[in-house]
Amino acid sequence: MDTVNILGVKIAAVDIMQAADRIMQMTEEEGVHSVYTPNSEIVLNAYKDNDFCKLLNRADLLVADGIGVVYASKFVKKPLKSRAAGFDIAMELLPRLAKQKKKLFLFGSKPGIAEKAAEIFCQRNPGLVIAGCRNGYFSPDENDEIVAEINASGADVVFVCLGAPAQEKWIDKNKDALNVKVLMGIGGSLDAVTGNMPRAPKWWQDHGVEWLYRLIKQPKRFFRMLALPKFAVTVFANGRKFPQD
Ligand code: UDP
Repeated sequence: MDTVNILGVKIAAVDIMQAADRIMQMTEEEGVHSVYTPNSEIVLNAYKDNDFCKLLNRADLLVADGIGVVYASKFVKKPLKSRAAGFDIAMELLPRLAKQKKKLFLFGSKPGIAEKAAEIFCQRNPGLVIAGCRNGYFSPDENDEIVAEINASGADVVFVCLGAPAQEKWIDKNKDALNVKVLMGIGGSLDAVTGNMPRAPKWWQDHGVEWLYRLIKQPKRFFRMLALPKFAVTVFANGRKFPQD
């Protein structure tokens, strides 16, 4: 699969449909696959933390969740055609999972959110099988129980919604103990679908300002969002030093 190297992180050149197709293929293959959806903040974290960078690159698929990553790909002269937001890929997967009779487990977010999201997913996608739901607030000594619960559910795909970088670290650490086909880290997607923290309207998404909408709705993200200009400066200074395949 064609990739673009953004500050050491190898992002696949796929759109939403291609990502969903690839993930469905994974459900037919041997082994456990991981899918992460880095945005500028995550890529910047990886640039500063080599272990985290290696962790991300161990994924079977890395897609560009944020518009910043798309701009960066243009700057390094290997342009991605579009973003492939984790939320959109997840929504695209649901009817396919229903059609192929693959089971989905929802893991993460505050108590009750996964169950509410499951209800909405099933209403919109008749035939979809939800293997189980589990909120994302737990102590380390409950981890084995969560792994056992997911394994016992017979899930094929798990949406892991613990926020970044916790979800990527959780997936990397627990992957070998899980007997599922795909683990996909998609942050606040369950909040978005339940209306707990709605996504920006389409105009904002299409004009590359979803981040601004988010900042207005969640001003306490301001300090996290300082990663955006820092990412831009870092890409400008160092982005072209990374080799492209
Ligand atoms: N979350 C969780 N467990 C935690 C901390 C956070 O399940 O210990 C959930 C939180 O409820 C929210 C998601 O992780 O649903 C993080 O959402 P955010 O939009 O911050 O995702 P990010 O932008 O970090 O990917």
